Amino acid sequence: MKTATGTFLLLDGKAASEALREEIAHSTIGVKEKLGRAPHLAAVLVGEDGASKTYVASKVKACESVGFRSSLVKRPAEITEAELLEVVQQLNADPEVDGFIVQLPLPKHINEQRITLAIHPEKDVDGFHPVSLGRMVLGLPGYLPATPNGIVELLRYYGVATSGKHCVVVGRSHIVGSPMSILMSRNTEPGNCTVTLAHSRTADLPSITRQADILIVAIGKPGFITADMVKEGAVVVDVGIHRISDATRSKGYRIVGDVDFTSVAPKCSAITPVPGGVGPMTVTSLLLNTLKATR
Ligand code: NDP
Repeated sequence: MKTATGTFLLLDGKAASEALREEIAHSTIGVKEKLGRAPHLAAVLVGEDGASKTYVASKVKACESVGFRSSLVKRPAEITEAELLEVVQQLNADPEVDGFIVQLPLPKHINEQRITLAIHPEKDVDGFHPVSLGRMVLGLPGYLPATPNGIVELLRYYGVATSGKHCVVVGRSHIVGSPMSILMSRNTEPGNCTVTLAHSRTADLPSITRQADILIVAIGKPGFITADMVKEGAVVVDVGIHRISDATRSKGYRIVGDVDFTSVAPKCSAITPVPGGVGPMTVTSLLLNTLKATR
């Protein structure tokens, strides 16, 4: 893409997802013949949170697009932890369900860790269970966490060279930053990076981010990474998703990431847009895990 100040490659998660979903749809035909039914992903949605509803709806739609079966298990925000654990046990025991997710965040009175631990590791297609994370660290086959794996698949799709590069990951959450740092340091491609994992206690963050050949940002702060924090020619992956009020838009808002795209993009060799970058890849990665679950 060309702007007045620079040329960069747009790491288009929609285009990469479309290509990968075609491959998944093709594999699904064989799985259907073998199992006598479609791969089946279930999603548990608790409460009425708008963003969670949107995410779950996009996952259900993605399942349909590749020939999977999907089911939505909706429960009110008042559900008790014991009742939700019962839902998880039912899905664990259901032979017709290959994998399932419990959409986070959950209401405050429910312990998310207890729910995650209750999901059978064989059905943990979000890749959040300690068994999945442990297998990832050991390089054993298993479910990789959806967002970090989606980013790896995006880098692979665009042939971004990673070996020997310095990758800086900003944010150390269990679902994005920490597993991302592990995947980028693995002895494989994409991987083989020298990784720095930064967080809110990192001293002089700009001096660290400026060293990044590949900068992956997952902090949850709109427009936080500005041009002065990025090295010329860097590859930038923006995980953040935020709704910002915008009276000029018909919806009254626009979606932005953790990176100030307008100022940063002209300095980059490649960058993900928000929306349309990491988001679609996260959903595609979930489909890849569900396909894995049928095996
Ligand atoms: P968390 O809130 O769980 O973690 C944020 C991390 O950022 C923490 O490790 C925190 O450090 C670090 N951080 C916060 N402020 C700073 C700062 N000023 N400088 C350096 N580090 C900082 O967020 P998630 O990882 O769950 O999500 C991050 C973003 O990605 C959110 O916008 C979320 O909506 C989005 N997201 C998008 C997905 C997608 O599919 N596109 C999927 C998942 C998330 P510390 O640990 O020290 O507190």
